[in-house]
Amino acid sequence: MRTAATEATGSTPLLEVRGLKKHFPIRAGLLSLLQGYIRAVDGVTFELEHGKTLGIVGDSVIGKSPRARTIHRLIDPTGGSLIRIGKATTKPHGKKLRRFRVNYQMVFQDPISSLNPRKLAIDIIGEPLKVHFKVHGEELTREVADLMSKVGLEKGQLYRYPHEFSGGQKQRLGIARALALHPKLLVLDEPTSNLDVSVQAQILRLLASLQKEFDLTYLFISHDMAVVYHMCDLVMVMYAGKVVERAETKALYTNPLHPYTRALIDIAEAEGKDLTITLGGEPPSMRFLPSGCHFHPRCPIAFEKCGWSAEEVQTALGRLLSAEFPELSLDTSITDERRLRVRGHVEDAPALLEGLKDRVARKRDEVLALRGIEAMSLAGPEIAVTLHAPQEPELLQAETGHFVACHAFSGPAAGTATGAKP
Ligand code: SF4
Repeated sequence: MRTAATEATGSTPLLEVRGLKKHFPIRAGLLSLLQGYIRAVDGVTFELEHGKTLGIVGDSVIGKSPRARTIHRLIDPTGGSLIRIGKATTKPHGKKLRRFRVNYQMVFQDPISSLNPRKLAIDIIGEPLKVHFKVHGEELTREVADLMSKVGLEKGQLYRYPHEFSGGQKQRLGIARALALHPKLLVLDEPTSNLDVSVQAQILRLLASLQKEFDLTYLFISHDMAVVYHMCDLVMVMYAGKVVERAETKALYTNPLHPYTRALIDIAEAEGKDLTITLGGEPPSMRFLPSGCHFHPRCPIAFEKCGWSAEEVQTALGRLLSAEFPELSLDTSITDERRLRVRGHVEDAPALLEGLKDRVARKRDEVLALRGIEAMSLAGPEIAVTLHAPQEPELLQAETGHFVACHAFSGPAAGTATGAKP
C-alpha cells in the first residue's frame, strides 16, 4: 500500500500489485470437467515501499499447500493483474522469468519439509548461488559460510544434513538459502508458527536485524496478530481471498474498522478464545462462497444488502414461523434466488401478513438473516417475500491511509435505515 512517506516523496514503491487473482480450477469426473474455481486470491491491489514490512493476516481458509503454491506462483497470476518488483514486471518468460524470481525469495512455514533431507547445508544454501551466479569451489564455500554466520549458524555445520539441526536452526538454514541471491523482497510464510515460543522470539529478532543489514522488504504472512503487531509497518487483513481492511499497523490495531479485524484482535487479546465461537461460524468453503460480502454469515452487524441468500432467509423465517405461529403449520419455499413464498392453512391472510411483518421487524436485530427481507405482500392465499439484492462491499478509504471493505463505511448511505454501526 502507498504510505504517507511514499506519497510525500513521490517515490516508486518496491512492490506493486494490481488486481492480483489466483484462481485454481476445480475439475471432477472421468472427463475432468471444469466445475468451478477456488478463488484463493481475488483482486488484490497494494503497493509496498522499500524497506517496509507488510503483514498479511486472516483465516487459513485455503490449505497450506494451495496457499504455498499461490504465494510461490505470485508472478504467474490467473490474469488481469500486474506485479512489479523494482522495475521488473510480470509476466516474463524463460531466462527473464528466472531473473525476475531472483528479486523475491520465500521462507516457508515448515522448515523441515522445505529442506531436502538428502542434501548437506552447504548444498542447500549454495544451490541458488551455483544456478544463478555460477559460483563454485572455494568461493562457494566462503559465501555459504558467510551466509550461515549471518543467520547465527557456524562454519562447522556446513557439512551437516537437515536432521542434524534443531527446529530453529532449520529455519535459520531456510533463511540463509532465501538470502543467498540477495533478493529485494522476502515472502515470510508463517516463519515461526512451527517453532517453540522461545525460538520464535529469536527468529523474529534475527529477521528484524537481517532486514536492516540486507536492506530487505518483507511480506509477512501470519495468523498471529501479536507477532504482526511487533513486526509489521502495515497490515492487510484478508478474508476468503479478498482484502477486507488495510492500514498502517498502529491505526489498524487502535481503530479496527472491519468486524472481522475486530474479532481477530479480540481473540489475540483474550488468548485461548475460540475464533469460531467469537465469530459464530466457520470460515466459508472457498468453493461456494457466500454472496455479497463473503463475511456476512459470521458478521455480528450484517445489514440488509450484505448478501443474505434465499436459503439463509428461508431458514430464519421457518424458525420464526414455527415459534410465532405454531398452530398454522406454515411452510416456506424458494421461488428464485430473491423470492420466497409462505403458505399454509390460513383463513385470514391479511392478518397473517401484518402479524408476520410485525414479528420480522421485532426480530431482525436478533436474527440478522431476517434483515435480508425487503418486502412482503399478499399473493392470493400465500405471502410473497422479496429479498434485498446482495451487494459486495468495495475496499474504500474510510480514513487517511485506512481502507475497509464494509457497507458500514461505504459513504453517506453507510449501513442502513437501522443506523447500525460496528
Ligand atoms: S459488509 Fe460489513 S456489515 Fe456487511 S457483512 Fe460485511 S463486514 Fe458485515
